[in-house]
Amino acid sequence: MAQTKSTLTHLECSMCGKLYEPNRLLNLCHECERPLLARYDLGKAALTMTKESLRTREASLWRYEEVLPVQNDWAMLRLGEGWTPLHHARRLGESIGCSNTYIKDEGLNVTASFKARGLAMAVSRAYELGARELAIPSAGNAACALSAYAAAAGLPAHVFMPKDVPTLFQVECHELGANVTLVDGLINDCGVKVREGVAAYGWFDVSTLKEPYRVEGKKTMGYELAEQMDWELPDVIIYPTGGGTGMVGMWKAFDEMEKMGLIGSKRPRMVTVQSSGCAPIVRAFEQGAAHAELWQGAKTIADGLRVPVAIGDFLILRAIRESGGIAVTVTDEEMLHYARVMGSKSGIFPAPEGAATLAAQVHLLEQGWIEPDERVVLFNTGSGLKYAHLWANMVK
Ligand SMILES: *Cc1c(COP(=O)(O)O)cnc(C)c1O
Repeated sequence: MAQTKSTLTHLECSMCGKLYEPNRLLNLCHECERPLLARYDLGKAALTMTKESLRTREASLWRYEEVLPVQNDWAMLRLGEGWTPLHHARRLGESIGCSNTYIKDEGLNVTASFKARGLAMAVSRAYELGARELAIPSAGNAACALSAYAAAAGLPAHVFMPKDVPTLFQVECHELGANVTLVDGLINDCGVKVREGVAAYGWFDVSTLKEPYRVEGKKTMGYELAEQMDWELPDVIIYPTGGGTGMVGMWKAFDEMEKMGLIGSKRPRMVTVQSSGCAPIVRAFEQGAAHAELWQGAKTIADGLRVPVAIGDFLILRAIRESGGIAVTVTDEEMLHYARVMGSKSGIFPAPEGAATLAAQVHLLEQGWIEPDERVVLFNTGSGLKYAHLWANMVK
């Protein structure tokens, strides 16, 4: 059967550097229990994945197959993931005094959030390597994306979400055929339930950064951004950070692209945005710490940001610092306010997480941290349509 152009060579522990043969199902590093990262023969990848050849490739994240892990064509699960539009939001930018404001609209992904990128890759690869049942702890969107790709592969999915997760997320998972369990607690408590199922039934755990391939799916945001900006990365990227897969993934993508000769050494300043009700990464950044402690009593309307502890914390913090970036909080009220600003001035109806990036941009402009002529990319990580429960209160 046909092989992909993947140049995957091995997996490497992000903490201790231990190497692993890639073609078997793995979660964390056996030595230090930290994330494994996929490594490629980038010299070989650069021979076929050229700027020229990319022009005629399929309009999905699979266009970057040389730097993706899937080995066999039959294992690539395709539901239309990735290759989302990058909009120059002129009216919005002018209204806040930063005319080069762009929005990468991830709300157009399968199941209406960028979680589709990570789960497309993790489920394709787990399917290829023979996983029989998949399980995930999720604040909402990841569970929906897993449900969709597991259905496409024909694998059972077990999803664990906090019991106060909005109804729509539960319904979507259920209708996509997943086994839904609601947990009295937060995403980390859901993680405990998943580990019980892994031990008892041999499920494969696709928690963020606890298997090596979700980050490979999410890194395609970095490749797309470069390609859509004609290989000239922006000055600033503002990203709503929960588990941090997107931050870690994009930072990895930039490094790979430089090694492939697609971009130079200039990097965007990476900005992490969290809610003032759950900001473990911001706190660790401000303290100059390498790791983030668990955030007690996490509470925010932005479900994707309700992540009190992240296993990839040190990788997120490293990306922010190496890039000369910053980590900031915004309030839930600001998210609701700026959702309408973004919507009415750009035509994009954002998730509260997406609105958080605009709130952060306005603060950073006011502080002079962003200059008015800089090129700024906001990540709208999901569609506002999934948050009807929030907006319903706002229509008066
Ligand atoms: C999961 C999620 C986030 C956080 O993403 P990470 O890459 O895990 O940090 C942000 N926004 C939305 C809508 C999400 O679902």
